[in-house]
Amino acid sequence: MADLKNLKGISEADKKLLAEAEEWLGAEPTKMGPVKNIFWGNIKEDFYFPYPQTDAREQAECDQLLARLDDYLKREHPAVQIDQEQEIPQWVIRKLFDLGVLGMTIPKEFGGLGMGITSYNRVLERIGQSCGSTAVLVSAHQSIGCKAVMLFGNDEQKKNWLPHLAKDWVSAFCLSEPNVGCDAGGQETFFERDGDYYVVTGEKKWATSGAISGLFTVMAREKTPDGKGKISALVLHPWMDGVDIFSKNRSKMSIRGTWQARIRFNQVRVHKSHLLGKEGRGLQIALSCLNYGRCTLSAGMLGGARTAMDQSIKWTQTRFQFQAPLADKELVRVRIARMAAHCYAMDAILYMTTGMLDRHDDDIQVETAICKVFCSEFGYRVANDALQIMGGESIMTENQVERIFRDSRINLIVEGANEVMQNYIFGYGGKQLAEMMVGIKDRVTWEGSGNDSEGFAAKLSRIFSNALRPAIMSRALPLATEVFLGIRKKSATVRNISPELKPFADRIGRLIAEITYQFKAMSYQYQVEILKRQSVQARIADAAILAHAYLCTLAKLDHDLKAHAGNGVGDAEFQRDKAAAVHFFDLAEREIESKFRELYLNADDTMLTAADAAMAYTASLPNSDFVIPERSPIAKGTGRHVKQDGIKQFPGEKWSGLPHQPKKGDLLKGEPANV
Ligand SMILES: Cc1cc2nc3c(=O)[nH]c(=O)nc-3n(C[C@H](O)[C@H](O)[C@H](O)COP(=O)(O)OP(=O)(O)OC[C@H]3O[C@@H](n4cnc5c(N)ncnc54)[C@H](O)[C@@H]3O)c2cc1C
Repeated sequence: MADLKNLKGISEADKKLLAEAEEWLGAEPTKMGPVKNIFWGNIKEDFYFPYPQTDAREQAECDQLLARLDDYLKREHPAVQIDQEQEIPQWVIRKLFDLGVLGMTIPKEFGGLGMGITSYNRVLERIGQSCGSTAVLVSAHQSIGCKAVMLFGNDEQKKNWLPHLAKDWVSAFCLSEPNVGCDAGGQETFFERDGDYYVVTGEKKWATSGAISGLFTVMAREKTPDGKGKISALVLHPWMDGVDIFSKNRSKMSIRGTWQARIRFNQVRVHKSHLLGKEGRGLQIALSCLNYGRCTLSAGMLGGARTAMDQSIKWTQTRFQFQAPLADKELVRVRIARMAAHCYAMDAILYMTTGMLDRHDDDIQVETAICKVFCSEFGYRVANDALQIMGGESIMTENQVERIFRDSRINLIVEGANEVMQNYIFGYGGKQLAEMMVGIKDRVTWEGSGNDSEGFAAKLSRIFSNALRPAIMSRALPLATEVFLGIRKKSATVRNISPELKPFADRIGRLIAEITYQFKAMSYQYQVEILKRQSVQARIADAAILAHAYLCTLAKLDHDLKAHAGNGVGDAEFQRDKAAAVHFFDLAEREIESKFRELYLNADDTMLTAADAAMAYTASLPNSDFVIPERSPIAKGTGRHVKQDGIKQFPGEKWSGLPHQPKKGDLLKGEPANV
């Protein structure tokens, strides 16, 4: 296949970005995952069907844990207090350790419950139903904070740290920095070598639970003269000399009970035994952890969405206006049906993705990204629908929907902002297909080779010799008929599915044939310019996201139908779910079709002009009236001085540390001296 970054016409900056992305993502998986198959116009039936199930023994263990957790959440958990006081009390964290929740994916030999990713997400979903802040605390610890130790730690490291992480240390994931947000590759925290030590210097921002953690997973770049050193993942502890947690938290709108710390590393000496995995693999390690964080974020969203849906539907059934319940009104029912449809689809995509992680599938990054984008976007839409139909009461603090709405919002930004994920899903989902197209273009078109000095005879010879090669022409001809004649690929479908669902399988097959056609048509129309046209990329990515959600929903419904064969009539939950899934098929189909339409009929030209004009106007206003990024390369120090007066702050001083948390300068058993 052709190498995209060597395409003619690609700017040096874009080439660098593509090369960097390839480096983080690592070697191409040998088997393409289901979403890449969608880009090729195929349905990877054996991925979706049958819908994944956890083994009975683990499911029973998880059910028992859920029962204990449910009891605690209903009777004791202070969700309102956590939100109001912006603090998760120490006793809650202790309780979560005691219940096993904070160590549930840590192997049993290290004191955890050794459960799988699906069970873990069921627990997160349940916590999300009650308290978004607590869901994030658990997820930040186990999905990202200490996941790298579980995935990449050697025996010694696991033996040293996992027992604490299962019982008494919270952990934090330190990737973001003042200048590092969505662009995770721009790490400015660096390390230098000194004998057996790495000496780490830099500053991390927004490390969730940083102020209360016993272990930090820190991404840092090797200091080299050209500034292009590779990034490694290191374990640091708060008690190491030179670690300064100079801000524990700031007051905020969402997940107010969680704390985001700012941590400075002043020449912290870290023994080489604290390196996770191989040197230079830090970004890959961080991205591997995010695969898990993106699921648990989704589980929290699903839990919150379910609570908001149930509460708001109940409200509209019991609130009378115009001498009738609100639920009688068709425009209220639009939202009720939509919430049910979106909750079912979120559930379907989440547990399809966790099943994939439990199976240790190879090619998972596009799917975990989709899970995150879909559940954050649609969970937020559910909370918004719930808010609307509950009317004024919805924004009253004690009614919970207000908190769910606030807590949901941040998830469209963190763990990969949704815009960045859309670009990624387009670029990485369609990468092999794009490479195949470029490879064909290089071989059989007149301008193809990109070699300006190629003579007339050489061009003819290249084209004819390639045209005689069946492997090339068997791909080139269908591609040409699609791109030039508009003839779509034959629709894929699903063979082993309940007969009553076959029409839905055919419908999604037709849409997927259209996705591959539109991907090729847009790639041909825009050529390398498509790398800059994020709106075009986002429309195709959205179509692929919805198609994947459709297939997950179809597989889950197929499973539910089979599980209820002959006995589902009186089961109101099953009947709701079945109708919700079928409604989702309609909604998704309409939305996918609108994405296709927008590829040709859109407001992009006026959008670009209006954005330029709005930016020119704002550029004329003085920086001193506005908040400006603290390390902006062009405007640092020119912004409005921001005061925190009157903003209730996190009472972090109350925190006295978890039991067994070492003090500054302490060493763990078996650790080399930290000097
Ligand atoms: C409550 C909270 C908890 C957090 N916890 C952690 C943690 O535990 N560990 C950690 O390391 N970090 C954490 N973060 C940081 C979080 O991961 C970042 O906020 C996130 O990566 C986005 O970075 P940013 O906020 O700097 O946004 P920026 O990178 O400044 O981006 C701002 C916006 O610009 C747009 N945008 C950015 N890039 C693109 C693009 N390429 N194309 C199109 N649009 C774009 C998006 O709309 C984005 O939301 C946390 C943040 C918060 C608020």
